[in-house]
Amino acid sequence: MKRAIFSRSDGQCEYRASHSSMRCSSKARLQIDHVIPLSVGGKTELKNLRHLCPAHNQKTAQIAGLFFQVTESSHPPSLLTQYLGRNPER
Ligand SMILES: [Zn+2]
Repeated sequence: MKRAIFSRSDGQCEYRASHSSMRCSSKARLQIDHVIPLSVGGKTELKNLRHLCPAHNQKTAQIAGLFFQVTESSHPPSLLTQYLGRNPER
């Protein structure tokens, strides 16, 4: 698996800036990153894995963490039940 990722990435960070599609040129201390984290159902398969330099690995992990935090807090199940339970009777 590692070798397959390496041959695809050519030993280079696979991060691309979304606005420019410029690819990061870092080849130092690459780490294998899950595009969709395992904790939210991502799989350890080639299309969900990518080579990232330490800086981009940290950056994408932060973005993912933030995203899932927001998703969770905007749909708290307790708030909905609270709201429904508070429904005024006329
Ligand atoms: Zn990078």
